[in-house]
Amino acid sequence: MSQHVWVGPDATTYTAECEACLYARESLLAKHVHIQGTLRRDADVGFTTCRRGHRIVVRRIGRALAAAAR
Ligand SMILES: [Zn+2]
Repeated sequence: MSQHVWVGPDATTYTAECEACLYARESLLAKHVHIQGTLRRDADVGFTTCRRGHRIVVRRIGRALAAAAR
């Protein structure tokens, strides 16, 4: 199971919480579920893992919408 984190069209950093860790009873400390990362401005997708190794997919939203509005 992979999780997805969505970031805005101009975002280069993101924070999220690992849902897999949130559901794991042994890891209820907030600092253990918190994820911080960066995404290059020209990248539409990236990958990261939480401290316990759960795979997380980072996806950029809104770019097509922003382009259509020009
Ligand atoms: Zn996790």
